[in-house]
Amino acid sequence: MSKIKLDIVTPEESVFSEEVDMLVAPGIEGQLGILPHHTPLMTILDIGELIIRKGKEEQFLAIGGGYLEVKPDRVIVLADVAERAEDIDVSRAEDAKERAQKSMKEESADMDVAQAEAALKRSLIRLKVATRRRHRRQQQA
Ligand code: ATP
Repeated sequence: MSKIKLDIVTPEESVFSEEVDMLVAPGIEGQLGILPHHTPLMTILDIGELIIRKGKEEQFLAIGGGYLEVKPDRVIVLADVAERAEDIDVSRAEDAKERAQKSMKEESADMDVAQAEAALKRSLIRLKVATRRRHRRQQQA
């Protein structure tokens, strides 16, 4: 069966580089499922969850927005930030969530609403993805 070479990179590091069967990415206009031989495209990614399927295994990452490029035989995700589910620090995300919610309530003149909303969204996605762990899908009957 054909595979997709998937690279996920951030400005700091290469987070993922493997052959996979499919991925679901948080496109700016909704979830984007990509299988081998997908039409080439470039799109913007939202803050969200990226799901990778490889054989019977699924992996989950939290993505802080970025770009996705689909080429004939490979997919490149350029993410602002990306963390695997198992690398997410839950208490840090809880703190970030509280900080963002507090600053949104304060309504001070110098508050950057968009920035606080994005920080809140990142924290909520991290908390969601952290509950996921790499797992094997149930064997199909
Ligand atoms: P914080 O306020 O906790 O820094 P943030 O959303 O502002 O959260 P980012 O700017 O998105 O943080 O990320 C900065 C760096 O810290 C990135 O390398 C990112 O992967 C990492 N990071 C942020 N939050 C977490 C977390 N909860 N667990 C693991 N890594 C995190």
